[in-house]
Amino acid sequence: MPADPRPRLRLWHLTESRFSPRSPDFTTRTTAFTVRRPLDGDARDTVTCPWCGTELRLRVSSPERFRRSLRQWALGCAAALLTVAAGAVVVVATPLPVAGVVLLVGGFLAVVITAAGWWWGTGVRPDGSPEPHHIRPDRSRR
Ligand SMILES: [Zn+2]
Repeated sequence: MPADPRPRLRLWHLTESRFSPRSPDFTTRTTAFTVRRPLDGDARDTVTCPWCGTELRLRVSSPERFRRSLRQWALGCAAALLTVAAGAVVVVATPLPVAGVVLLVGGFLAVVITAAGWWWGTGVRPDGSPEPHHIRPDRSRR
């Protein structure tokens, strides 16, 4: 079985914005968890939030499918960076740089979106509306 590119996940439960001096982390509660990835395709799994008891149904991608998704985000980010570079060239080389500014702004937005897709990608998607929960890669040290 191919290695899972991001085996550790973290479930975020966004709490009410009530300030408590005893709890400086008053807007989120997180807990680490793992899922079993299928050999290929997608599989179903569940995780229970320890803060509110909600059971979230998850769709879990195989390591290969998830790796392909990360590659697509990275390629999109590279294309967006090329768009930004092309926009900079147009801005410098033309007397009326409107097209260059459009390329710069659009390319920059695309860089932000694709980089976020790559950075926050997990290959695990909740079914339905998971609010107030989010699933992110676990980048903390254990
Ligand atoms: Zn919860």
